[in-house]
Amino acid sequence: MFDKILIANRGEIALRVIRACREMGIPSVAVHSTADSDAMHVRMADETICIGPASGAESYLSIPAIISACEVTGATAIHPGYGFLSENQRFVQIVEDHDITFIGPSAEHISMMGDKITAKETAKELGIPCVPGSAGGVATLEEAKQIGADFGYPVIIKATAGGGGRGMKVATSEAEMERAFLTARSEAKAAFGNDEVYIEKYLQKPRHIEIQVFGDGQGGGVHLGERDCSLQRRHQKVFEEAPGPSITASERARIGKICADAIAQMGYRGAGTVEFLYEDGEFYFIEMNTRLQVEHPVTEAIFGVDLVREQIRVAAGEKLSFTQDDLKINGHAIEVRINAEKLPEFRPSPGTISHFHAPGGLGVRMDSALYDGYRIPPYYDSLIAKLIVHGRDRPEALARLNRALGELIVDGVDTTVPLFHALLQEKDIHTGEYNIHWLEKWLESGPLS
Ligand code: ADP
Repeated sequence: MFDKILIANRGEIALRVIRACREMGIPSVAVHSTADSDAMHVRMADETICIGPASGAESYLSIPAIISACEVTGATAIHPGYGFLSENQRFVQIVEDHDITFIGPSAEHISMMGDKITAKETAKELGIPCVPGSAGGVATLEEAKQIGADFGYPVIIKATAGGGGRGMKVATSEAEMERAFLTARSEAKAAFGNDEVYIEKYLQKPRHIEIQVFGDGQGGGVHLGERDCSLQRRHQKVFEEAPGPSITASERARIGKICADAIAQMGYRGAGTVEFLYEDGEFYFIEMNTRLQVEHPVTEAIFGVDLVREQIRVAAGEKLSFTQDDLKINGHAIEVRINAEKLPEFRPSPGTISHFHAPGGLGVRMDSALYDGYRIPPYYDSLIAKLIVHGRDRPEALARLNRALGELIVDGVDTTVPLFHALLQEKDIHTGEYNIHWLEKWLESGPLS
């Protein structure tokens, strides 16, 4: 096992990893920017090291700073969390070249899934069903129009290098294609430095269903069922649950096996998520994330496993501590992402937390790096807490979510908590009848203003 693990991240996910390290008896190193000297992950780790100024590019994204931090502290492994360098193939290569273990998949698997066209091709070869669309990149407007005519409108134009919901444009007719195609390309260029785009059939009422997978790096693979993350704003998830309210046990077994077999065949190591759109009983692959997801706790809740611990074990060459047969679903879990944002515009609202009180009790988990007096810096993501509830069934989980939200106090900044109070008043949330467009449509009807 590792002597010491460095966590190349901040906020709640850094705490999440520190907690797993502590339970495993492994010393942890927190890295931080000058803006994060007082951050909770810095307070909680066994060792800390400042790696640069406030800007993410010069600190949490600085490969030389992180490698030097390992050398200075003697850390022998790096956990990347999510975001920042977690899916950066070059970083992983450099880490490995320095004889440090990257807690995650190989650089090769990351690059295979990082480029979305290659990812789709790989998925197809591995027998994973995909959204119908262009075979590879689409370079010209004429080609784009031809694809629109072939597949039928609406279509969605997506950046090959995409992520975070950026660089995606929908065209509902040939007349709209020119504007959509050119805007998608220029947005892709601005966001990712690469203007290559591809085209997919735009599904009208799908759910976002993702399968949690785990590979042991030695040809073994398991799946831990699905999460439904259909409640999205601007293609960003805000409310996630497991199991998916629309997925049957036989559908889960079928798509789960396809994904587990695929990662076994790849020789994939560590945690991964295979994302699908799901419509009329069919699954359509959209991408694979080669890291831990923000919403992993709902899966941990229903399976009773620690996914970060498993990531660390597998990276150290140990076996997974469970087999597919050991994995049984127990109850229902929901996560809500609480951001420091002012509603109804979702405008970032950094500032000082004058009072913080976390909810507790049976089936409640709060993953947050907040504390009384904490100053939320304006430089990073606005996620400040994840509230995860677990119940014997979905109605119990929803009732528990309502109860826990009522106990939560975050004073001093605006948060997205009122969004969840309002959502819990909606019948569709209770019946589970929502798709990826539900939240945006509901927000347009002005429930928060
Ligand atoms: P990113 O990596 O930027 O998050 P994804 O490919 O994962 O991009 O897509 C993000 C979200 O965009 C999906 O969850 C879904 O809401 C929407 N989306 C993507 N592809 C399609 C499609 N073909 N039809 C309809 N919606 C789509």
